[in-house]
Order: sequence, then structure tokens, then C-alpha cells
Amino acid sequence: MRMRIGQGYDVHRLVTGRPLVLGGERIDFERGLEGHSDADVLLHALGDALLGAAGLGDLGQHFPPSDERWRGADSVDLLRRIVELVHGAGWRVVNADLTLLAEAPRLAPHRDRIRARVARVLGVEVAAVGLKATTNEGLGAIGRGEGMAAFAVALLAAESDAP
Ligand code: MG
Repeated sequence: MRMRIGQGYDVHRLVTGRPLVLGGERIDFERGLEGHSDADVLLHALGDALLGAAGLGDLGQHFPPSDERWRGADSVDLLRRIVELVHGAGWRVVNADLTLLAEAPRLAPHRDRIRARVARVLGVEVAAVGLKATTNEGLGAIGRGEGMAAFAVALLAAESDAP
């Protein structure tokens, strides 16, 4: 079976006066991530992993921050568009694994909701979406709570080899 793996990374600054959106879910927190879109750091890392695996470039290329069209964009919508591109290139998603780096808030209460939402968009079962969170142990900008970062990997299989 022909397979491709991709990895993605993203980071956004935390600011007051913005809602916090992670994995497509609004999270109750005193600050939110700053960005041109909804700044959903988890979905941006995932989108880059998917695009990278399919050899389709990166998020900035498909949804440039210079384009007013993407101002305030819902990253779930961007992810849907990416999955369409991936399918169009002859690939299906096998699984994805995400790691959030954040000092706060705790991700655990939201984990299953986010996994279910991401799984629906990717067209995979919930078990095929991993979601982990870790603090940065107080080290560096992430450790000081100035922002959040995320890593993602995604595996694709050639549609033509699908069972
Ligand atoms: Mg981003």
C-alpha cells in the first residue's frame, strides 16, 4: 500500500480579548490566540501535516494571511478544504496525532469533544485521532504562558489501494 506521512507545527501568541478555539471547540479561558483566522493552533498544525503528507504545500500558501477572505476564518472550514484537496489528490486519511503545548488551561475536559470533531472532518473513526497536551514546564515563551504551540503528524494511504 502506498502511504505518506506528514508533520506540522504551529504557534500563536495568547492575548486578551480573543476567544480561545482549539480543535474547532470554543474553550472557556481568560485569553485567546491571536491570528488572522480564529488562530486554532491545533488545526493549523494538523492542516500542515495533511498538506505536507500529500505534497500539497502548506497552510500559508493555500490560505495566505494577506488575503482578506481568510480574516476570522473558522479553521474547521479550512481543514475541510484541506481534506478535499487531499482526497482530490488521491489520498485518504489513515490517522492523525496531535500534541498541544500549553501551560493552561487543561485540555483533558475537552479532549473527547475535539477528537470527535476532528475525526468527523477527516473521515476517520475517533480512535484514529490522537490528542495529547503537555505544559512546557515553565520554560521559554510557551512556559511563561505567552502562547501555545502544536505539533501534528498525519498518515495518508493511496485511495486506489483502499480496501
Ligand atoms: Mg497558525
